[in-house]
Amino acid sequence: MKKHNFYAGPSILPQFTLDETIKGIKDFAGTGLSVMEISHRSKEFVAVMDEATALFKELLGIPEGYSVIFVGGGASTQFAMIPYNLMKSKAAYLNTGAWSKKAIKEAKLFGDVNVVASSEDTTFNYIPKGYRIPDDVDYFHITTNNTIYGTEIREDFDVDVPLVADMSSDIFSRKMDVSKYAVIYGGAQKNLAPAGVTFVIIRNDVLGKSDRPIPTMLNYKTHIDKESMFNTPPVLPVFAALQTLKWLKANGGVGEMEKINIHKAGLLYDEIDRNPLFKGTVLNKEDRSRMNICFVMNDGCEALEKDFLAYATSKGMLGIKGHRSVGGFRASTYNALPVESVQALVDAMKEFEKMKA
Ligand SMILES: *Cc1c(COP(=O)(O)O)cnc(C)c1O
Repeated sequence: MKKHNFYAGPSILPQFTLDETIKGIKDFAGTGLSVMEISHRSKEFVAVMDEATALFKELLGIPEGYSVIFVGGGASTQFAMIPYNLMKSKAAYLNTGAWSKKAIKEAKLFGDVNVVASSEDTTFNYIPKGYRIPDDVDYFHITTNNTIYGTEIREDFDVDVPLVADMSSDIFSRKMDVSKYAVIYGGAQKNLAPAGVTFVIIRNDVLGKSDRPIPTMLNYKTHIDKESMFNTPPVLPVFAALQTLKWLKANGGVGEMEKINIHKAGLLYDEIDRNPLFKGTVLNKEDRSRMNICFVMNDGCEALEKDFLAYATSKGMLGIKGHRSVGGFRASTYNALPVESVQALVDAMKEFEKMKA
C-alpha cells in the first residue's frame, strides 16, 4: 500500500533527493568512491559545497552582503549562537511556542531578554499582534513557523532593529524578502535534507558588534571566512541538501512551491472546517500554518480519536499523531509531500465521517 508521510521532522524528502543521494553514496562524481569516504577538501566535494551555497542564495533571492553557511549542531545550537554573536546587552523575543521558549532560555544566559508578547496562555494557538519592540534592543527574534502548534508568520516584518528568524520548518515554502532579516537559520530536517546540517543566512554587517570572546566553533565569522569548511562539515546531509535544492529549481523554485503549498493546505483546512467530526486548533485563518496542520476531534467526538488514528493508519497515513502538548492530529505538508497524500487524508476523513454517521 502507498504510504503517506506526514511526519513533522525528520520528514518527507523528494524522491529525487533520495535517488541522487543513493547514487552519490555508491559512486560520487565518477570517483568510484562514496561521498562518505572522500575528503571534504577534495575538488569534488568543494564543488558540492559551492553549488549548494550558490543555489541556496539563488532560490531565496539572497541579496549582496549576506553569507550562507552550513554547520552542525541543529537549530538548537543556533539558540545560543545567535545571542553569543549578536547580543551586546538586550534582545527582544516573540514567544510563539516551544522552540521560541528554548531560544529565550538560551538568550537569557547572555543578557536581558524582553519577551514582547506570548501566546502561551492558550497553548500557543495564535500569533500575538500589536506589541511594541523596544528600539534599544540588539535584535528581535521570531519563530516563523511553529512546528508543534501549527501557527505561522508569513509576513516579512518591517522592524527598526535587526530581525532574526528561526525558519527550520518553513524555509523554501514561500517567496520571501530576505533583505528584511539580519539572520535566518534552521535545522535542515524539515524541508531540505536529512538531520545533521543547519543553514544560517547572515547579513555580514550585524557581526562584530559585541566584544564578548566567542569560542571558535560558535563564532559565525569562523564558518563564513572558511566557507563552511573550517572543520569537517556534515558531508552527506550537505550532499543531500544540494539534491533538494536542484529539485526545487527544476520544479519552479519557491514561487511554485508556495502555490502548491497554498493548494495543499487549503484542501486539508477546508475539510477540517467542513467535517463535523473534526475542528482546527488554530482559529485565526491568517495564523494557520501551511506546513503543519493541527486538528482535533470536535466537541463531543473526543472518544473517536483512537479510532480515527487507527483508521487513517490502515489507509497508509504515517506520522499524523499530534504533539503530546496539543494532542489530536498534526499533518505536516512540507514541499516534498505530494497533493495526492493530502487528498488521501481528506478522503479518509470523509470516509470516517460516513462510517460514524
Ligand atoms: C525542529 C525545530 C527546531 C529544532 O531543530 P534541531 O535541529 O532538532 O535542533 C527548532 N525550531 C523549529 C521551528 C523546529 O521546527
